[in-house]
Amino acid sequence: MERYSMFIDGQEVQDASGRTIESLNPYSGKPWALVPDGSEADVDRAVRAARHAFDKGPWGQMTATQRGALLRKLGDIIARDAEELATIESRDNGKLYREMLGQWKYIPEWFYYYAGMADKLQGDTIPSDRPNFFIYTRREPIGVVGAITPWNSPMLLLTFKLAPGLAAGCTFVVKPSEHTPVSTLELAKRIQEAGFPAGVFNVVTGMGKIGAALVSHPDVDKIAFTGATETGKVIAAAAAKNLTRVSLELGGKSPNIVFDDADLDVAANGAIAGIFGATGQTCMAGSRLLVQESVHDRLLERIVERTKQIRLGDPMHEDTEMGPVSNEPQLRKVLEYIDVARADGATCAYGGGLDPTLGGYFVQPTIFSNVTNDMRIAREEVFGPILSVIKFKDEDDAVEIANDTRFGLAAAVWTQNVHRAHRVAHRLRAGTVWVNAYRVVSFAAPFGGFKESGLGRENGMDSIREFTETKSVYVELSGAPRDPFKLG
Ligand code: NDP
Repeated sequence: MERYSMFIDGQEVQDASGRTIESLNPYSGKPWALVPDGSEADVDRAVRAARHAFDKGPWGQMTATQRGALLRKLGDIIARDAEELATIESRDNGKLYREMLGQWKYIPEWFYYYAGMADKLQGDTIPSDRPNFFIYTRREPIGVVGAITPWNSPMLLLTFKLAPGLAAGCTFVVKPSEHTPVSTLELAKRIQEAGFPAGVFNVVTGMGKIGAALVSHPDVDKIAFTGATETGKVIAAAAAKNLTRVSLELGGKSPNIVFDDADLDVAANGAIAGIFGATGQTCMAGSRLLVQESVHDRLLERIVERTKQIRLGDPMHEDTEMGPVSNEPQLRKVLEYIDVARADGATCAYGGGLDPTLGGYFVQPTIFSNVTNDMRIAREEVFGPILSVIKFKDEDDAVEIANDTRFGLAAAVWTQNVHRAHRVAHRLRAGTVWVNAYRVVSFAAPFGGFKESGLGRENGMDSIREFTETKSVYVELSGAPRDPFKLG
């Protein structure tokens, strides 16, 4: 079994108590790595290291151009090791190796993109209404960032925060999910190899309490969180006590809308990609398939036929299409929702249980038809391979059903009518809308949520700005004494 250490102040460290957590490989169901079960004291050490690196270390003295050069070097190292890192992440979360490899090959692009932007972040000179004052602004890094990540795509979701945050000049304490901590620890080694000063990047592993300690730590300036909506609410409330800034990338129940003028083969493919890709364990999963009545039966038939052929198996094999559910609590949750859907009167058109041949954490790709939007299966995030198929009459009906949710992360529209495509895209209350596509993300585009899907992230320079505060500087020009009792 592999044994890992936490990473604090440039050192590999164990928890003082010596306690560990086993990280399971969801394909074999067996533990493959041991990581420290960190404590609040470790969080405190890591935050102090990040604070020191920010306030007193060489990091704070570096120019933005030098920070950009380090980010570029990190991108090169990740690109060099993409296969190894993808193998590790696939082993830890059970997602397909080829999907993880795609992510790891894309991650360097994020670092290159933000590397180039690090020294383009400028303040403004303000046209002053005070004749004796020259006023300008500076964008200052916000300080110590606590990053908390989920298990489904640990490194991609950390990169969303890390690349703009490091470009801005922040330092980080990261708490990865207890289910998938290893890739973040592997990243720490590469960050050190790239030459980032000690304390700029720290990782504390352990259970949810580690995240809670990070959120309530008075020396953390910003929490960047990705995870479930319910956890996000707890974090927002806890962060409010110290007025710590927060960004929240949360859950979804995204509508995938197929109109009767869509190419049904293409749409069927998109429906399958939307829900069975990554075993449905993506925040943007197209878990509600809204289909116009006139093509409902034809489309459902095509989707069921293709779903029957989905190849489940070893995530490391090139021809596997769907891997296991990532961990045991998630498996229980998925199976519970299958029962809920049945009890609420939905019809199981395919699947509906554990895979009989593979067992373990393998759930059959499952399709429920005759779902209405008031059923729990249509309202609550499952985060697994369960598709709810809902009929609609016309465009207004589709938009109403699509927006009738507490989430607003993503949506898709399938139609060959260009007017309808844009019209509907504009009416959907979702942070990302795809037209005749599903599950595409770009470092160059914002990715965010409406409603309870969180605050999301901006793109490019705006994303770097989220890791900064603006400071106004007033410079007196005359040098003459001023009336001490007069404002302005
Ligand atoms: P959780 O919210 O359960 O956990 C996310 C992280 O928060 C984990 O590291 C967890 O630690 C930690 N955590 C748990 N409780 C607390 C707490 N009280 N204070 C601070 N941190 C805490 O989410 P999952 O890991 O189950 O991930 C799945 C969820 O993530 C889904 O809802 C999905 O939609 C969402 N997600 C959103 C994305 C987006 O961009 N909008 C992208 C990907 C996923 P531990 O694991 O140790 O309990």
